[in-house]
Amino acid sequence: MSAQYDAIVCGGSFAGLAAAGQIGGRVLVIDRLPIGDGETSASAVPLACLENMDLLSVVEQVHEEIHIHTRRRTQTLRFFPFATFDYRRLCRELFDRTGADLLHARVVEARNGRVRTTRGDFEAPIVVDAVGWRTATTRADARRARAPRRSFGIESRQPFRGEGLHFYVGPSQGSRRFYWAFPAGDHLRAGLATYTGDSDLSKDLKEFCDRLEIGEPGHVHGGFFTSRWVDPIRDGVFLAGDSAGHCLPVSGEGIRPALVFGQLAGRLAERSRVGDLTLDQALSQYRAYVRSRKKAWDVLDRLQSVLNTLPDPLFAEFARAVGTRRVLDFAVGAYWRAADPDLLTPGRSATPLPAVPTAVAA
Ligand SMILES: Cc1cc2nc3c(=O)[nH]c(=O)nc-3n(C[C@H](O)[C@H](O)[C@H](O)COP(=O)(O)OP(=O)(O)OC[C@H]3O[C@@H](n4cnc5c(N)ncnc54)[C@H](O)[C@@H]3O)c2cc1C
Repeated sequence: MSAQYDAIVCGGSFAGLAAAGQIGGRVLVIDRLPIGDGETSASAVPLACLENMDLLSVVEQVHEEIHIHTRRRTQTLRFFPFATFDYRRLCRELFDRTGADLLHARVVEARNGRVRTTRGDFEAPIVVDAVGWRTATTRADARRARAPRRSFGIESRQPFRGEGLHFYVGPSQGSRRFYWAFPAGDHLRAGLATYTGDSDLSKDLKEFCDRLEIGEPGHVHGGFFTSRWVDPIRDGVFLAGDSAGHCLPVSGEGIRPALVFGQLAGRLAERSRVGDLTLDQALSQYRAYVRSRKKAWDVLDRLQSVLNTLPDPLFAEFARAVGTRRVLDFAVGAYWRAADPDLLTPGRSATPLPAVPTAVAA
């Protein structure tokens, strides 16, 4: 490939495809796998994300309720509807909308308009790093560049049906971890994650499947959750999604931030491509906006530390308190605005980013 590109997007999953969809001109998406083959997640998001991106065709099941199971009780919460969706179809649909070229290669390094891959080097004024928790950097730089990866999760798909999103929490389930069972049409996604990053979880997943009586785990996938941030711009490159540590603590919800910050990075990149902003201005505005959302991550990070120490009865009380109207109204609004699905659009958007408070922008 010798073409000149306006933008190179490293990573063809949530953050990368959301960004690529906002950039006009000649765009190259690079992924080590075919589009839609690299699923790590349980693929559950607030339904509004898919609605606002005109992606309802990929929905497998809508969930009005979240059930929090502790040893003593089950608390049912009604925040807003969630959906489990078909990852492969979502990625392929998003990629088709980009009009980008696709290169199957592993990105070795992305910096200052240059992307080194296992299939050669490529250059473009705009580069987005959206390759997930490994981030597009050399092995030597990895320790400095990677968002701290605190949690690790795996899951399997079992041929069972159900309703609602189910979480199993509290020390009686095992310390510093949570389990889930998410129905998705004709199957159930059953998994667990540890906040310690312990990745030896196959036996625990089998025990969980036994407990739910849903058979032996089949194919298992997963990876790290990166919920502690690094600077969302590095060496002239936009970072979005897990490469910047954008996964939310406590819940491990990373798809919504990847889509929202991916689209915002792409929107600013496009403004630099058409000459409305210099690249530096676009990068600075992106950093300022992303930083303006950081408080939610800090609060959830602290909450995760507290939850790690709560005994079972207090866990049940916590789940009950979250379900009360007063907490719901306050906390859910803040949780939503952390990565606001209302900013998502189906196609390219010229809408400016929301204003950032001056104190944060400085
Ligand atoms: C078990 C588990 C369950 C989860 N469930 C949920 C959930 O239900 N809801 C939710 O919101 N979040 C969930 N998450 C978190 C969510 O999966 C991530 O936050 C989200 O996938 C981040 O999106 P991303 O686009 O940044 O990165 P990814 O989705 O990880 O995509 C990275 C892309 O880059 C490609 N790539 C990687 N390295 C390279 C390279 N060097 N060169 C080229 N290409 C490369 C990969 O093939 C992939 O296509 C879960 C995570 C785990 C581990």
